[in-house]
Amino acid sequence: MSPTPISKFILEGREFLIKRDDLVDTYLAGNKFRKLYTLLDTPKHQYEKIISYGGTQSNAMLAIAAMCKQKDWEFVYYSKPISSVQKEEKIGNYFLAKSLGMQHIELEHRLYKEFIPSLQLNLDKTSFVIDQGGAINEAKAGLRVLADEIEMQQPQVKSLATPSGTGTTALFLAQNLPHYRVYTTPCVGDEEYLKSQMLSLCDALPENLVILKPKKKYHFAKLYENFYQIYKKTLDAGIEFDLLYAPSMWECLLDQTSEKVLYIHSGGVTGNISMKLRYEKQSNKSDAFF
Ligand SMILES: *Cc1c(COP(=O)(O)O)cnc(C)c1O
Repeated sequence: MSPTPISKFILEGREFLIKRDDLVDTYLAGNKFRKLYTLLDTPKHQYEKIISYGGTQSNAMLAIAAMCKQKDWEFVYYSKPISSVQKEEKIGNYFLAKSLGMQHIELEHRLYKEFIPSLQLNLDKTSFVIDQGGAINEAKAGLRVLADEIEMQQPQVKSLATPSGTGTTALFLAQNLPHYRVYTTPCVGDEEYLKSQMLSLCDALPENLVILKPKKKYHFAKLYENFYQIYKKTLDAGIEFDLLYAPSMWECLLDQTSEKVLYIHSGGVTGNISMKLRYEKQSNKSDAFF
């Protein structure tokens, strides 16, 4: 595959560069594509089934579904119980993943907690488990490819940025690109939680990794007026970003940095349809919201 392009981007009068990993594919894009790189490179006959678990609006879930479709692998996805409304929706990541052949299994909360850790046990050779959000060691190789592309493209920056869920992307990028500063910010849980997640994938956090503090305590996948406003601002500036992770990262970059930064676009825009519907509902309920 040829390297994804780097675009110029002006936001609030500041110049940024954007690594367009969102352009790889509609469903299998961004850092999920990078994380699944090793599996995508695996011969079809090696596996019959891929198993994963987590939230049912997840970008990782949709990317895995697209990969399994392409590879002709069975895909079984476990989650906690979901609403009947979501089950019937004809838009969003869950609907798309199901259309790509995902088998979805709901587990009661208590059972879920016991069952998930047991997935890795009793596993036969033809099945592979992908931990929540694609936080697997195999992700390292795919992020090495991203790092090599960046080195080759020689963007005129000293800093990169990517928002964190599990922290896999930011960690492996920082490890692979020691000459760049890598900014990130926790979007799921707080800074301590992010660090502990990262430390499950490495022995010590790299020195060039800089964790910026979110402006306030945000809860993942909740609706925030300023998130929507940043989303619109970036869209008006010419590029659509996701509504879950990107807004907080942009807010941190605009408030807490002043140099030119290369932002890694991690995709995830397919999830925006359902998020935007939620924002619309919210704004109808309260005029004060927007
Ligand atoms: C999954 C995802 C992230 C978080 O990536 P991690 O490697 O889990 O930290 C960030 N941005 C977008 C758009 C994502 O889909």
